Amino acid sequence: MKCTKCGNPQVIIKKEQSGQALCKDCFIESIEKKAIKTVKKEKLLDKGDKVLVALSGGKDSVTVLEILNSFRKMHIIDICAVTVDEGIAGYRQDGVDIAINHAKRLGIEHRVVSLKEEYGITLDEIMQRENHRGSCTYCGVFRRALINKAAREMGATKIATGHNLDDEVQGIMMNYLEGNIDNLTKLGPKTESKAEEFTVKIKPLREIPEYEIGLYVVAKGLDVHFDSCPYAMQSFRAEVSDLINKLNEKHPTIKYSTLRGYDKIKKALGNSLDKQYSSSRCKICGQPSANELCRACSFIEELKGD
Ligand code: SF4
Ligand code: ZN
Ligand code: ZN
Repeated sequence: MKCTKCGNPQVIIKKEQSGQALCKDCFIESIEKKAIKTVKKEKLLDKGDKVLVALSGGKDSVTVLEILNSFRKMHIIDICAVTVDEGIAGYRQDGVDIAINHAKRLGIEHRVVSLKEEYGITLDEIMQRENHRGSCTYCGVFRRALINKAAREMGATKIATGHNLDDEVQGIMMNYLEGNIDNLTKLGPKTESKAEEFTVKIKPLREIPEYEIGLYVVAKGLDVHFDSCPYAMQSFRAEVSDLINKLNEKHPTIKYSTLRGYDKIKKALGNSLDKQYSSSRCKICGQPSANELCRACSFIEELKGD
């Protein structure tokens, strides 16, 4: 089999969906082009943006950093990065070290922030509590709060995350299955909040399958943290992911069609499902919150009471 694009006999991937076979160089180029196409199509970047990359050290965030760095090299944007240390023993430190090395390699401003320093408790300690709400619930809420805070402090105009096609489709299905329409409508390539304090979030990799991002970092020789979080298996996301992957075996276009369908529904609904922006603030941290306390602060109060 030869590369469909250049004829090189050393093919590294055959795409089920399109029948395209690609050699290493053509594959790398195809991934970068696809992400850049999403950036342009969805107008994810503006000239002069300072983009904060949420850099865990995993394959997705390292890829997003690599691709956004091409815009930085063209002097279109500036980049900085933040890594959240949730306090997961035997797992997180490797990712933190890899993130530090990538930031150094590219010469970008980088911060490591931790749950322990910010909230006085690690995720492992929370998971030892009797009545916890599940690792990923705390992890997601605290991580978002810390990344938003870092974005404000570092003067970022956008936050880029490494969400890939699989993540996005899982998010769509999870929120749909849970009837969580509020969160469902917040998905998409660019997440804006009417509250100025929340920086716009962008997802340049949302049309690239997870498997292809794994292959991209290997093909490019990028050092990434490949281990899975020890709590991942407990999550509803993992169940939904298994289900989608099983369906994908027989129906290889299902992830794209779910994404396209979602985008059409979101467009058709327009702003009709937009949540009214509440101008009230969290009593503890001062962040915009519809309730007296934001979710992060209410979790901390709840944990204090345990
Ligand atoms: Fe956090 Fe859950 Fe992801 Fe682990 S699997 S890093 S606990 S969100
Ligand atoms: Zn080729
Ligand atoms: Zn708060």
